[in-house]
Amino acid sequence: MSNHTIETPPIVALPVAGTDATFPVRRVYCIGRNYAAHAVEMGHDPDREPPFFFQKNPNNLDTSGQFPYPPKSSDVHHEIEMAVMLKSGGENIPIESALDHVYGYALSLDMTRRDLQGEQKKMGRPWEIGKAFEQSAPVGIIHPAADIGHPSAGRVELKVNGEVKQEGDLNQMIWKVEEMISYLSDYFTLAAGDVILSGTPAGVGPVQKGDVMEVNIQGLGSMTVPVV
Ligand code: MN
Repeated sequence: MSNHTIETPPIVALPVAGTDATFPVRRVYCIGRNYAAHAVEMGHDPDREPPFFFQKNPNNLDTSGQFPYPPKSSDVHHEIEMAVMLKSGGENIPIESALDHVYGYALSLDMTRRDLQGEQKKMGRPWEIGKAFEQSAPVGIIHPAADIGHPSAGRVELKVNGEVKQEGDLNQMIWKVEEMISYLSDYFTLAAGDVILSGTPAGVGPVQKGDVMEVNIQGLGSMTVPVV
């Protein structure tokens, strides 16, 4: 028996490949614009701007296998992203040890009410109304880093109704996973259960009810998500 005044809200817990145990979610950070339009050369780019982040809610992560078209929008976009799940955290984490905090990786979608986000941007207001709505982040099964390592390259592809709409490669990320973790940890205390959506390659666009999204990231398998 808890001492809460109301019934305890459910913990969001995500499935993990190869086990019945689940991954409980604490926070969800999402990076904005993290892929160059074209393949970038490996190595440091001194001209890049600092990254920026917004948040979704833990219970926006959704494993139902479908995406309900949300209310109050007529321009809902797909954004395929690799999700990074942390097993530990801290503050001021050095880049060199940042990947030690990663539990695993999964396919995800940062679904966006682009029309509402656009209005908010224009007025300099926060993005939640465009980003953090119900079931706005379909997510696949988690692949533990202990099994698959830390993917830093691999094809990223999203199809709608069988047609390729987004394609890129994990190696095109402007801010690598270890850099995002390190950067976030300078501003927030990261912890086990935190999830980072690592940005989307070019080709975002609208979906309609009845469309079927197929997301695929090399090494993380694929996931089919109908829009209902
Ligand atoms: Mn995104």
